[in-house]
Amino acid sequence: MAIKDILTHINREGKQVFSLLQKSGPLTKNGLLEILKTNFTALNRIMDPLEKEKFIMEVGIGESSGGRKPLLYDLDPKCFYVLGIDISRVYTKIVIADSKMNIISKKTFEMDATFTPEKTVREIALLFQKAVDKLGLHQEQFLGVGLGTVGPLDRSSGIMLRPKYFPSEGWTGSPIKERLEQALGLPVMIDNGANTAILAEYKFGAGKGFQNIAYFNCSTGIRTGAISAGVIVRTINDAEDAFGHMVINCDGEACNCGNYGCIDCYASIYAIVRKYQAALKQGRSTGIDKDIDEIDYTDICGAAEGPEPLAQEIITNAATIFGVGLANYINLLNPGLIILSGPLISYSNLYYQIASEIASTRHYDKEANHIIFSKGGFFGEDAIALGAAIMVVESYLLL
Ligand SMILES: [Zn+2]
Repeated sequence: MAIKDILTHINREGKQVFSLLQKSGPLTKNGLLEILKTNFTALNRIMDPLEKEKFIMEVGIGESSGGRKPLLYDLDPKCFYVLGIDISRVYTKIVIADSKMNIISKKTFEMDATFTPEKTVREIALLFQKAVDKLGLHQEQFLGVGLGTVGPLDRSSGIMLRPKYFPSEGWTGSPIKERLEQALGLPVMIDNGANTAILAEYKFGAGKGFQNIAYFNCSTGIRTGAISAGVIVRTINDAEDAFGHMVINCDGEACNCGNYGCIDCYASIYAIVRKYQAALKQGRSTGIDKDIDEIDYTDICGAAEGPEPLAQEIITNAATIFGVGLANYINLLNPGLIILSGPLISYSNLYYQIASEIASTRHYDKEANHIIFSKGGFFGEDAIALGAAIMVVESYLLL
């Protein structure tokens, strides 16, 4: 029987044990009993089919609380594998995760103006095949494929609707799910990358144990995901850029969305590079030894740490606007944990420091709302791809 059919046919209690061992194993039977509030006979009945299918295994001996030392059980990490993909405009990352959601293979490629959806899918299929061969695995051992990409998108049909900022043409209306399924020969699930990232952090990473968490990926645009009371907060067409288009200045700059004064106009990579280049063209001096049009955000982030006054000024302004947006967001959704991630956060310590400081000091009712900030979360830049793989497994556990 195919892995997906075996997983589908496990009953609800079996899936609960599977999930507990996957996320918190190894555990003893007593440990499981404490969580499940059931009795020994019932637990054995639940675990029986899981052991028969070789999903769970004995992995050692636990601490004794008096008497015989108990056996420890865990999910067998080799019982299946999942492919997770992150297509994020200027790069694609693929990860192969085992069933405990450990990343066992990871590959990234950059995308320029030649990377149409067709070329991107061909490259993914090639890298996947190479990784599978190298690991000595077979396609039948894969439960499926998860893709975290740029919204807005239609999750059920798997079509990317109107994604912005891809260097190549062809992404609008792209049937990416269908293309990947044809190229990989496996079922594919898709969601926006901010949602898959927050799922990874919530289930396995920095957000474990929290009820409300928020994830911000500061990149070409700002991508946001939120989990409230344990559920992903979904927006129209699963777009992840709603936060970036919150208006922060009524008389502000024109945004590519057609509105004026959005957070993205001030706080994204796009805005930072544009403002820096404009300042140089107006005669401001720079320590970056490059043609103005070739200066990118990594140069500016590096110069700001230097510190170079112009780069510092522009990063500070961008992070301040982002921080004020964050404070407003905190007022609305009260997340206990805010994960700040993405290239702007990893390249600019200044951006992270100022944004988190402004958000901490400017939100409403600071006494009641104690917010924890995490730089990069637990999975850092792997969160989108790994979260996409986790989404596939979770879809079976919910059935
Ligand atoms: Zn806008």
